[in-house]
Amino acid sequence: MTPDSNICNTEDNFLLLSCQQLGYDDHVFELLSTASREIRLELPLRKDDGSVVVYNAYRVQHHDSRGPFKGGLRFHPTVTMEECRGLAVLMSLKSSLMNIPLGGAKGGVDCDPSSLSDHELEQLTRKFVEKIHRNIGPTLDIPAPDVGTNPQIMAWIQNEYSKIYGYTPAVVTGKPVATGGSQGREEATGCGVHIILQEYARARKKQLTDKTVVIQGFGNVGSNAASFLEQAGMRIIAISDSHGGIFNDAGLDIENVVAHKRKSGTVAGAKESESIDSTTLLELECDFLIPAALSAVIDESIAERIQAGMVVEAANSPITYQGNHILDQRGIPVLPDILVNAGGVIVSYFEWVQNIQQFSWPLKTIQQRLREKLHIASGEVFKLARQEKCSFRSAAYRIAISRLKEAFFAVGF
Ligand code: NAD
Repeated sequence: MTPDSNICNTEDNFLLLSCQQLGYDDHVFELLSTASREIRLELPLRKDDGSVVVYNAYRVQHHDSRGPFKGGLRFHPTVTMEECRGLAVLMSLKSSLMNIPLGGAKGGVDCDPSSLSDHELEQLTRKFVEKIHRNIGPTLDIPAPDVGTNPQIMAWIQNEYSKIYGYTPAVVTGKPVATGGSQGREEATGCGVHIILQEYARARKKQLTDKTVVIQGFGNVGSNAASFLEQAGMRIIAISDSHGGIFNDAGLDIENVVAHKRKSGTVAGAKESESIDSTTLLELECDFLIPAALSAVIDESIAERIQAGMVVEAANSPITYQGNHILDQRGIPVLPDILVNAGGVIVSYFEWVQNIQQFSWPLKTIQQRLREKLHIASGEVFKLARQEKCSFRSAAYRIAISRLKEAFFAVGF
C-alpha cells in the first residue's frame, strides 16, 4: 500500500507511512487504522421557541488495549463521523506517546453552540448522555472538552450519567474543580504548548524571549497558550478567531485581548491592533506559527506561502498530509499535535486518577507532573528524530505506534 489521495484521512496517511518506516506488515496498519466501535446517534432538541431540530452525534472509539477510550467531545456544525475517526486515531497515538494508560476516542455533535441558549445546550448535552451512557464510563470511555465544549458541558454529562450510575465524576474530565475537576486542567493544553517550546529551545540551546508568534484560534488552547508564551517574553504579533484577526508588530497585550473577547465575543477590534484576515495571518513572517483552531487549515497552497520558522500544532491535525509534505520540502519544521497539545490529555489523566482515588492533588503537583511527562516525551521524540534524521512527526508517530502495536498484540484480538 502507498499513501495516496484516495485515503482522504490525513491520520491514515501518516499512520501508513510510519508503519512502513517501522517495517511493519500491512495488517498492522489495517489493525491500527480501524476503530473498535463507531456510534452514530440522532439527538432531537425542542428549542426555546417550541420548534424541534434533530442533530447528529458521533463517537468513535479507536483503541483501548493500553487503557479506556479517551478523547474530546466537539460541538461544531461541521463535525462528521469521518473527522471523529481521524481524531480518535490521533488520541490513541497521543496517549501512547505520553505513555499514559489510556486509549483513543473522539466524538461530536453537529450543532453550532453559539446559536443555542444555555437551556438548549444543556438539554442537548443531557440527551446525548441519555443515548450514549451504556458506551461511556470511567473504565470504558471518558470524554473531555474540545472545540465548542467546556467545563460546564462536562458537568452536565457527569450529572446526567450520575443519575443512572450514582456519583461518578471519573466519567468525564475537564469538569469544573467544584464538581471533581482537576486543578490546572483548564489551562493544561496551552501550558503544554509552552512547555514543549521550552523543551525545544533548550534542546537547541536557543532562547524563546523576543521570538515572534502568530496564533490562529483564541479559545481554550489558543488563549491559554498566548498567555503562557507572553509571560515567557515572547511577542504575540497576530491572533485570529472565527470572527476575524488582529495584528500588532510590537506585540499584542494578551490580557487586553482576553478582556476584549470576554466583552465582545471576538478578538477583532481589540485595542492597539490592526485587523488582518485569516489567510494573511497564516502567511505572516514569524518565528512560530501556532494553529490552535480547527483541522486541515494548512493545505498545500497555504503551506507554499507560510513564512514561519516553525509550525507548532496546538490544534489537532491542522496540517493536511499534502500540506505537511510541502512544509517538509521547504525545510520548515513542524512540532506535531500529538506532542504539542498533549498537556490536555495528561492533566485529564491526572483528573481521572484523582477521581478514582477520591483524592485531589495541589496545583503544584499537577504542574510538576505535567512538566515531567512532557519532558520525557519530547526528549524521546527529539532523540529519535536526531538519530533517524527524520521529522519530529515521524519520530513521534514511530514511538506511539510501536507501543500501540505491542499492547495490541499482547492482549490479542
Ligand atoms: P475552542 O472551541 O475553545 O476554541 C476554538 C477557537 O478556534 C475559537 O477561538 C474559534 O473562534 C476559533 N476558530 C474557529 N474557526 C476558526 C477559523 N476559521 N479561523 C480562526 N479561528 C477559528 O476549542 P479548543 O478547545 O481551544 O480547541 C482548539 C483545538 O485544539 C482543536 O483542534 C482541539 O481538538 C485541540 N485540542 C484541544 C484540547 C483542549 O484541552 N481543549 C486538547 C488538545 C487539543
